[in-house]
Amino acid sequence: MTEKSALPDIKSMLPDELSAALAALGEPPFRAKQIFKWLNTPVSSFEEMTNLPKALREKLSERFTLYAPLAERKLVSRLDGTVKYLWRLYDGNHVESVVMRYEHGNTVCVSSEVGCPMGCAFCASTIGGKVRVLGASEILDQVLYAQADSGLRISNIVLMGIGEPLDNFDNVIRFLRLVNDPAGMNIGMRHISLSTCGIVEKIDKLAGLGLQLTLSVSLHAPDDETRSRIMPVNRACGVDTLLAACGRYFEKTGRRISFEYAMIRDLNDTPFHAALLAEKLAGTGSHVNLIPLNEVPESKLRPSTPETMRRFIKTLERKNINVTVRRKLGPDIEASCGQLRREREKK
Ligand code: SAH
Repeated sequence: MTEKSALPDIKSMLPDELSAALAALGEPPFRAKQIFKWLNTPVSSFEEMTNLPKALREKLSERFTLYAPLAERKLVSRLDGTVKYLWRLYDGNHVESVVMRYEHGNTVCVSSEVGCPMGCAFCASTIGGKVRVLGASEILDQVLYAQADSGLRISNIVLMGIGEPLDNFDNVIRFLRLVNDPAGMNIGMRHISLSTCGIVEKIDKLAGLGLQLTLSVSLHAPDDETRSRIMPVNRACGVDTLLAACGRYFEKTGRRISFEYAMIRDLNDTPFHAALLAEKLAGTGSHVNLIPLNEVPESKLRPSTPETMRRFIKTLERKNINVTVRRKLGPDIEASCGQLRREREKK
């Protein structure tokens, strides 16, 4: 299959939609439950759904499409067991996922789009722009297939792979509902983080849904001059507007925001930036996750020195801001997102 099928993508259907579709085919309600269960396992054809009558399997294959990704590459870190996948999708496009092993459980980092339209200067995923959004099932498949292939039971999900999740809002919400379903993978919203570059109107829209997930906002600078230099999204909507939306998000959902901050040498890591960031976040109860910049071959930006990072952290801690530094996992397999796909696209 190399083109999007005209038939509905059955794995993207929510349980009540599936029930309605099966009822319309004259099937009893338990069939929809059986099928939903199958769709939450890595089956690639209706033929494999062996507890369904053959006639029904045939009917399903005439009326619906069932997509399945192919693990084109799999890299396993010898240092910490991190597993990275390059998936080939039905149309020949590629996305990446990473399974990370933490004490609190195995976490999969999934992609939400093929490429990314946001244009952040430091990010490998946006080189070449956005090709297309992923369907809900294509995001779900990254969790299903990573778990099945790696043998690691997934308990946490981060939407921090390739793409901007809020640019693919409807499919991402649909994915969240699918993966959260008790009859499916049953992963609790509190075990899911969604990372965004900060599309203000979409943050408000998300807040309106009242989901209990963790919202991570890629801030990377506390002032408009610096942020607009590295993140085009900031040119339309500045830092203070973004922080105000984060405040509204917290008020509506009761969930504190986690801010990501990639430390880039001499660009956003000076005492001025640390002091302004501390001032803007003081008293909000939010959390800052510093990420040592991953070097991307196509970019001239370099990571901050360890000494600069230490000083930056001290400034934030003096204002009682909760700071952590992201541990680099899978350094031997280039586990940070976007790089495998870049390599593949160059071929
Ligand atoms: N589009 C979403 C999610 C994708 S990336 C977002 O912008 O949040 C997940 C995180 O990695 C983001 O905080 C992103 O800014 C950061 N990131 C991207 N490239 C990076 C790099 N080269 N080094 C460090 N962090 C990077």
